[in-house]
Amino acid sequence: MSQMIASVMVEAILACRLGCAACCIAPSISSAIPEMPNGKAAGERCVQLDTAGLCKIFGHPERPKVCSSLQATASMCGTSAHDAMIYLTELERLTA
Ligand code: SF4
Ligand code: SF4
Repeated sequence: MSQMIASVMVEAILACRLGCAACCIAPSISSAIPEMPNGKAAGERCVQLDTAGLCKIFGHPERPKVCSSLQATASMCGTSAHDAMIYLTELERLTA
């Protein structure tokens, strides 16, 4: 029974909605990103984001670990990039 409750409480991991890019804009990233050696500030667009909202260094070893380990979830991603920006901006504010 407790296992069943635990499995309901664990949020499903989704696939990233390509082109959303909220994760590449809203949060601060402290690790180095190519062309952004000091990482990026919250709300700053990552320079590695292309005009389609896709990561130019996806799959490359120099992509920060924090980016490759990020898991999309329903509560974070919402149903639009706007939802995700609101969620991630608030999360950043609460954890700053
Ligand atoms: S908020 Fe979700 S859908 Fe948007 S970029 Fe991040 S992981 Fe992808
Ligand atoms: S390196 Fe790629 S995945 Fe990471 S924030 Fe920049 S564009 Fe997004």
